[in-house]
Amino acid sequence: MERVPELYGSLVFNDKIMRDKLPKDIYKALRKTIEKGTHLELDVANAVAIAMKEWAVENGATHFTHWFQPLTGFTAEKHDSFISPTDDGQVIMEFSGKELVKGEPDASSFPSGGIRATFEARGYTAWDPSSPAFIKDGTLCIPTAFCSYTGEALDKKTPLLRSMDALSKEATRILNLLGNTAVESVTTTVGPEQEYFLIDKEDYKKRRDLIFTGRTLIGAPSPKGQEMDDHYFGALRPRVAAYMADLDKELWKLGIPAKTKHNEVAPAQHELAPIFDTTNVAVDHNQLTMEIMKKVANEHDFVCLLHEKPFAGINGSGKHNNWSMSTNTGINLLDPGKTPAENTQFLVFLAAVIKAVDEYADMMRLSVASAGNDHRLGANEAPPAIISIFLGDELTAVVDSIENDKFFNSANSVVMETGASVIPHFTRDNTDRNRTSPFAFTGNKFEFRSLGSSASVATPNIVLNTAVAEALSQFYEVLSKVPAESMSNAVHELIKSTIIKHKRVIFNGNGYTDEWVEEAKKRGLYNLKSTPDVLPRLLDEKNIKLFTKHGIYTETEIKSRYEVLLENYSKILHIEAKTLLEMIYHDFAPAVVKFTDSLTKSILSKKQVSDKIPTASEESELLKITSKYEALLDATAKLESDVAKAEGLTDELELANYYHDVIFEDMSAIREITDFIEAYIPDEDLPYPTYSKILFYV
Ligand code: ADP
Ligand code: MG
Repeated sequence: MERVPELYGSLVFNDKIMRDKLPKDIYKALRKTIEKGTHLELDVANAVAIAMKEWAVENGATHFTHWFQPLTGFTAEKHDSFISPTDDGQVIMEFSGKELVKGEPDASSFPSGGIRATFEARGYTAWDPSSPAFIKDGTLCIPTAFCSYTGEALDKKTPLLRSMDALSKEATRILNLLGNTAVESVTTTVGPEQEYFLIDKEDYKKRRDLIFTGRTLIGAPSPKGQEMDDHYFGALRPRVAAYMADLDKELWKLGIPAKTKHNEVAPAQHELAPIFDTTNVAVDHNQLTMEIMKKVANEHDFVCLLHEKPFAGINGSGKHNNWSMSTNTGINLLDPGKTPAENTQFLVFLAAVIKAVDEYADMMRLSVASAGNDHRLGANEAPPAIISIFLGDELTAVVDSIENDKFFNSANSVVMETGASVIPHFTRDNTDRNRTSPFAFTGNKFEFRSLGSSASVATPNIVLNTAVAEALSQFYEVLSKVPAESMSNAVHELIKSTIIKHKRVIFNGNGYTDEWVEEAKKRGLYNLKSTPDVLPRLLDEKNIKLFTKHGIYTETEIKSRYEVLLENYSKILHIEAKTLLEMIYHDFAPAVVKFTDSLTKSILSKKQVSDKIPTASEESELLKITSKYEALLDATAKLESDVAKAEGLTDELELANYYHDVIFEDMSAIREITDFIEAYIPDEDLPYPTYSKILFYV
């Protein structure tokens, strides 16, 4: 293996390459654009394009693409080759600044939620210089934003960049006001931990449900599940270890700082975490990571499952979005410092986050809502659907002391006492690992844990950035009127009143208990259980106001996103229902008939020999299975007719609710029966592999 430092970023047009390849003045102009978002002149773009193309061709690229993130949640690319014919019948490799900066893909096949009228199908992609270009499969990929011709965002990157700007503006303003005048900008940082399952490709190919929906729609539990907790952090099996080594290598080439890897709680489940980066880059990298995970799996005869709940009864997969804010002067604004009670700056930002999460908990919930994630949230394996904040004992004590005007003495709290007179840095290690909290303070960052494994991390960060920007903006309104000599008092009062008003969202206990559900209700917190429950909240006046005020979404964009999300939910359930029907009729029912046939024959032939041969147990087994089989056929017929009824519903919200209330219930009823029967069917009679085979034989 090549040495890692040489390998790392070898397929990325990164800063070092830019510095080497670009004339000094061009490099400077580009850096200014990257750092300050200033307009890029065409001559600069042309010079960058030439350098980029040369580098790409040297590294084997023949094509380029504007790589973007439409509302499907996947990434999209359309490849153009660099070739340009010359008069003498040859070709040269060409790439212009115009091609670098702007593309015009036909937007008509991407979801727009009604924004894009059919007469104006064109959309355009615009280069995002803040995320580096890279080479993938012989194609130079240029990260871009994707908009309609009339300028509405049709992607996830545009609002993300807008939200980062909004937060930067508000955070900088307040820092300057607090006397930290050196700060010119603030970026948000994200480190997403990604969970996934690895299963054998042969097993995958035999299951229509995995192929069409990404999850198993039926399947009896295996004798062993995850109850022994023997998989978590267990030794990696050689085949999995080889996969992970290759995956790391591919990610490193793309400049993705893959850092930790380990087995997860469920059998066949694993996790990968990169070192954090600015949000925009982290989002791009996470999209790429998911893609590369699947690609490398294929090369190892595995399939990588990113669905939130591939197997019932076994933990599903999520993503932990570690998030913080950091100044251009290098300060992590969520690092409490040595004496947090005195660290005003930290407390202002902490208060802003608490206020933001409390006021926009519905949007936080919305940002992680999907048909797949509905299986996890509130199912005691992932955080509950109720959004709350975990602060840990120490920070809670700090917050309490502010609220009650008591002096906070960190020596009295749960500090590691080393005997030395200095108070140890309390932050890093004392935050206990409360795994049941959706939003936990972990020393110098918050960890938003409700994200689904397959979704883009863009939306949760858009919401987080914008809600915190709004809180900071309101803080600024208050503090900017205060004369300098009263500032420290005013800041203290502001933190105190914010805590009093929003402390209901702080919860350090066990989020899995019924008591918490009750308690949260008393506190007036949202408990938005399913995707159709939460989606309409997007149109609430307060939320439209939030996003429009900060220029994240226009009202049209919000409505379009609402439509896309609803439609997407219904489509997923529709595909699942159709797949289940096909599986019952083509796979499962024939297997049951085959087995009951052989059982019947066995009983009959024994009876022919002698009525003294006992068959009572066999008969009772046959009876049990056939009566369940009758029920299965009824339940399947009901699903079939209910799916047909869905065609008649035209209102998207009504339709989504119908899929949730009727179709999903039908599917659950079927599953209860199939899983009962499956336990009696011999493996060789089943045309698809069982949970035992899939989860324990890799
Ligand atoms: P755990 O499994 O204990 O939650 P990991 O080490 O797996 O922790 O993941 C922690 C993640 O948090 C890593 O991706 C890390 O880079 C990221 N992280 C650390 N500091 C910050 C920060 N200031 N902002 C954003 N992410 C951070
Ligand atoms: Mg974590």
